[in-house]
Amino acid sequence: MVVASLRPSRIEISQAAFNQNIRTTMQTSHAKHMFLAVKANGYGHGILEIAHAAVNAGVYGLAVAVADEAVVLRQNGITIPIMVLGYTEPQYAEILAQHDIIASVVSADWLTDALDFLTGNHALQVSISLDTGMNRIGMRTKNELHRAIDMIKAHPNMYEWLGLMTHFATADSTDEAYFEKQLARWHDLTDDLAELPPMVHVANSGAAMYHADEVPTDFIRVGTVAYGWEPSGKELATGEGLAPILSIKSALSFVKQLDGDEGISYGRTYETDCQQWIGTIPLGYGDGIDRNMQGFEILVGNEKAKIVGQIAMDQLMVRLPHEMPVGTEVTLVGSNGQQSIDIWDVTKYVGSQPWEFTNRLTERLPRFLVD
Ligand SMILES: *Cc1c(COP(=O)(O)O)cnc(C)c1O
Repeated sequence: MVVASLRPSRIEISQAAFNQNIRTTMQTSHAKHMFLAVKANGYGHGILEIAHAAVNAGVYGLAVAVADEAVVLRQNGITIPIMVLGYTEPQYAEILAQHDIIASVVSADWLTDALDFLTGNHALQVSISLDTGMNRIGMRTKNELHRAIDMIKAHPNMYEWLGLMTHFATADSTDEAYFEKQLARWHDLTDDLAELPPMVHVANSGAAMYHADEVPTDFIRVGTVAYGWEPSGKELATGEGLAPILSIKSALSFVKQLDGDEGISYGRTYETDCQQWIGTIPLGYGDGIDRNMQGFEILVGNEKAKIVGQIAMDQLMVRLPHEMPVGTEVTLVGSNGQQSIDIWDVTKYVGSQPWEFTNRLTERLPRFLVD
């Protein structure tokens, strides 16, 4: 997709807010090392911008969902540890080994299958994935876990046992029963192991923030909190010490005064009922702006202005409080002076979640690391 850099619409990522979120997360979880989840384009923020922010903040390593994301990070000069959390087909094992990328091993058979593709020039670093109740990927029995460990031990030139993990499905829920069930399974699977690998990583944001006394947290594996979002939507904690890192900015491209009885945008879903100042903003659903934001108030300068009419692919209109010049700064999410638009208010309005909303922001919007 073409990045629109010849246009004022942009995403800004605050390094200062990000640093603060990392500090808060490390302190609350008593973690020594963090793997920051940068999958899905850094939760939509921009994978390279977030990777650079992470390196600047001294984050230990990065976690991605798919092998390509890890390779792209390496190709762009990222040298800190990188782990693929998802399933990688065995035929790609050697690519991970060559790029010094940690693979998740989801079954003992995977280790047998990958041997056909590994050259042994570089041992593949592996993290064993245990399924304790997420029921997505991972080994579910002691028997299989021991087979996997034996397999790794039997091929020291091919495999290096670096990690052991599980993933909690309800760590950010007020109902702790299922979390406890998963934790009990984790203990059952791992308590009697003769040896543990250097990285035992089980805590996502919810586990790191609310269960640090119950789970190992020397290594944590988080996304949500680092992006400044209280994982439970402030149900379980106040979110103190966490700050939003993402702003969506633009500028007025056109301003006019309309008489009453004019329709605005496709389908004429909004009609002026009196003389009104209408501003146009070069942002639309082609940038990932949810069309359900129609009717929501954003900031033009530091004043509120309601989105009127349907949001089009590339442009949207707002009703201005008074005449304002073309070029006036627009804030869809983020702050301008004392005023701010909280992404939680946006996502409540459109019926989604911050991480879902940011995931949809398209490549057309350039990303900038600021502060
Ligand atoms: C996405 C993901 C994480 C990070 O989760 P957050 O809730 O955003 O902290 C951790 N582990 C795995 C396996 C994941 O897929």
